[in-house]
Amino acid sequence: MRRIALLVLITGALVATWFQQPATQVNTVRELAPGVFFHEGDLRGSGHCNTGWVIFDDYVLVLDANFPSGAQMVLAKIKAQTNKPVRFAFDTHHHGDHAYGNQIWADNGAVPVAHENVLAEMQKYETGLFGGKPGRWEAEAKSREDVRASKLKPPSLLYRDLMIFDDGKRRVELRYFGVAHTRGDGFAWLPKERILFTGDAAVNGPFNFLGDADSAAWVETLTAAQTLAPSVVAPGHGPLGDGRVLAAQRQFFVDLRAEVGKRKGLPPDRMQAEVPAIRTALLERHATYIDPGPAPIIGFESQVATVYREMTGQEFPKKASQEAARITHQQHHGIEPR
Ligand SMILES: [Zn+2]
Repeated sequence: MRRIALLVLITGALVATWFQQPATQVNTVRELAPGVFFHEGDLRGSGHCNTGWVIFDDYVLVLDANFPSGAQMVLAKIKAQTNKPVRFAFDTHHHGDHAYGNQIWADNGAVPVAHENVLAEMQKYETGLFGGKPGRWEAEAKSREDVRASKLKPPSLLYRDLMIFDDGKRRVELRYFGVAHTRGDGFAWLPKERILFTGDAAVNGPFNFLGDADSAAWVETLTAAQTLAPSVVAPGHGPLGDGRVLAAQRQFFVDLRAEVGKRKGLPPDRMQAEVPAIRTALLERHATYIDPGPAPIIGFESQVATVYREMTGQEFPKKASQEAARITHQQHHGIEPR
């Protein structure tokens, strides 16, 4: 009896540890439930996002299209598992690392799917395709071979509030909760398994890019997503987590906004000088979201600058050289083009 109790205790602890500190398993396939898979992308090395896929009776639904090279990698792994065709590729939002692989999926018989605002965001930023002058795709193509070798394929199957895939066994609901990381953040929700794919509306690491975001709306959107009460959260970047990822991500923005809000009366130069103090104030509680390293993918200062701009309409006077280096690094890896 005692042995069983001990075993239950150990198993419980193991499960808890698995979710609390999941080892980063970049480029490995993980089965979350029968027919439901998660693949953590190599962000630092290749700029790839995380990808999911669900194997239905007649087809495969891919969750996030990735960059072209990420799409090719994941497609090969799907083909090794099943001979069912990939029919749909869901873009959680318009950024290159989540949508530029659309053409790869299309070439293999899939239709890119997204919230209607993803197309609107592309029409705004992808001027090379929609407006004439070079836009983000063309900027990205300068540093990425895989982008150069492919072409932009916007999503053509769009939803407003909800799109449902259901074959009687598995069900995936594409949902929309409002503006967050972009204006078009879609979520993929598996109600039976209580698994939520969030795209970059929730990440699990220091990867929050605010360039197309609205941080106040982002908090509200995450509050709405939390009502789903997921057991597993598959974030846009970083390791798999549980429902606490949504809470932690939301709280980071609540606290970041509070720290900036306290100081919003400061002029831009003095506000910029406060960045290290704000970082220190947030670091203990939000270590997951603040990069300690010398070459962060997303600079903390850029996050503070965006929130300050949202609150006051003012810009920081100068981009610190360190910050400029981060942006170069980020562009080199093709992450979140501005
Ligand atoms: Zn993004």
